[in-house]
Amino acid sequence: MIHAVEVEKLSVSYFETTALEDLSVRFTPGQLIGIIGPNGAGKSTFIKAIMGLIPAEATTIRLLGHSVKQARTRVAYVPQRSAIDWDFPIRVLDAVLIGCYPQLGLFKRPTKQHRIHARSCLERVGMLDYADRQIGELSGGQQQRVFLARALAQDAHLLLLDEPFVGVDAGSEGVIIDLLRMLRDEGKTIVVVHHDLSKAADYFDTLLLLNRRVISVGPPTDVLQPHIIEGAYGNPLAFLQKVEVSS
Ligand code: ADP
Ligand code: MG
Repeated sequence: MIHAVEVEKLSVSYFETTALEDLSVRFTPGQLIGIIGPNGAGKSTFIKAIMGLIPAEATTIRLLGHSVKQARTRVAYVPQRSAIDWDFPIRVLDAVLIGCYPQLGLFKRPTKQHRIHARSCLERVGMLDYADRQIGELSGGQQQRVFLARALAQDAHLLLLDEPFVGVDAGSEGVIIDLLRMLRDEGKTIVVVHHDLSKAADYFDTLLLLNRRVISVGPPTDVLQPHIIEGAYGNPLAFLQKVEVSS
């Protein structure tokens, strides 16, 4: 079987900090996968490393059965909110058209066909009315939906989303998770870094609990055991407290 993500013995260090150590994991295609773990556990580092964006040591990193370089046109990556320059002046429709570039080639201009396709992708995420707005004018939830439209335009088979629900109101979070489920049901693989444990069982088919190493991976009911959560967070009630804080 071809795995959506196959990683063997991945280690990443930033100077004296070892962010990930000897991490091996495989994700089955067609699933919604949540990556959880405390602050600084290496969740963002994991995503950046498999995208080839930071130097990493590994015996294997394969996405959709290919090297990162070969797979890249079929992989969509949305960084953490804080890593994006939201003041960058770009129109919503143009942000989605970027998703067409792999097919387009770097030096060709988008055709009418590409624009029609980009607009239909915006329509699928309920954002067509915003096509001519600047991306910086949108709410956090709307911005995430535009990124999903771009992933649709790209026909990405693997989506890597780093904390997509941060800065997003509850209503938009519901819309986004429904969109992710729809993509999953079409056979796409979606990997979501997520820090809110209270929703993890509801949202994801598989959870990967990280803390520099793989602490646990499997169905949410197996991973969200108090003794396992305590091992990673130092507190068996970590996810119950999150519920109280957010309510
Ligand atoms: P998470 O996303 O789970 O919160 P990160 O992957 O961002 O964790 O970080 C993992 C560890 O690596 C943390 O100890 C963090 O401080 C460190 N780290 C992350 N990025 C850098 C960097 N650019 N330079 C130095 N240390 C970093
Ligand atoms: Mg992070």
